[in-house]
Amino acid sequence: MKTEEFAKPFKITDGGKFRLKDFAPDETFGFDSKEKAQETLDRGIARLNELHEKLLAQDRWALLLIFQGMDAAGKDSTIKHVMSGTNPEGCHVYHFGVPSDEELNHDFLWRATQRLPARGNIGIFSRSYYEELLVVRVHPHLLKQEKLDPSLVTPKIWEERFEDIVAFERYLRRNGIVVRKFFLNVSKKEQKQRFLARLDEPEKHWKFSLNDVKDRECWTDFMYAYEEMIRKTSTASAPWYVVPADHKWFTRLVVAEAIIDTLEELDLSYPKLDAKKREEFKNARALLEREK
Ligand code: AMP
Ligand code: MG
Repeated sequence: MKTEEFAKPFKITDGGKFRLKDFAPDETFGFDSKEKAQETLDRGIARLNELHEKLLAQDRWALLLIFQGMDAAGKDSTIKHVMSGTNPEGCHVYHFGVPSDEELNHDFLWRATQRLPARGNIGIFSRSYYEELLVVRVHPHLLKQEKLDPSLVTPKIWEERFEDIVAFERYLRRNGIVVRKFFLNVSKKEQKQRFLARLDEPEKHWKFSLNDVKDRECWTDFMYAYEEMIRKTSTASAPWYVVPADHKWFTRLVVAEAIIDTLEELDLSYPKLDAKKREEFKNARALLEREK
């Protein structure tokens, strides 16, 4: 199967009419088993790694991949699988949790700007500044901790954050940092199964938090916040992908293809040798051959 067939249907470049209910969390496009999908994924991973080597060598573009989703949507496991085999030197993953005191003493984009990928690199954000439009919106007491002057906290604050994020991502694109955003769309039912598995399996206990279960009571509010976020911040240069997340193997396939698609659009190539370099290579070869 070709790239477009997996990733394109989930890509939102203009959020205007976006409705979350048009996207099924359990979509698998006729793939009926993990085994069949694995073969396609393995090919995708190999292709992705080839492209990443060129990205590194060319040292011109950077790629920023942002993952958002409810707890247990599969953010970490998707990153682990899709990026398996990627040269760790040019790939960095950051997990954004509850902001520290130092982070709360700064503007909301500050902690993310510290961790933007360098040219040639892939930067991965597991959660991101988008939490400011999600958890902070659903639980307004979190906004109070941000130490903003009351005159700055008006009913327009979310609209302003949408605008600021769109402007920030446009700035990144203009500076050669290509942004792609993934919303892992898991259903409430599947999340329950995954939470139960976290309780049952000792090696998953560390991932469990009672607050995550309590957030299920705010499911509708979260889905509203995700929908608005996708509507207001999907652009041609920084699109959201609404990735079906009830079947992890399908999630991985869509994400891998979306990254490949993006890197292919950049027309990456290894740097060409100029005359000076060619001369240098000739001398180096002569030196090596003279060695006893
Ligand atoms: P986890 O990803 O399961 O380790 O949990 C990290 C927690 O940090 C989640 O509950 C997030 O909602 C929370 N979090 C991330 N960013 C922010 C933020 N900017 N403000 C408040 N909470 C946040
Ligand atoms: Mg968690």
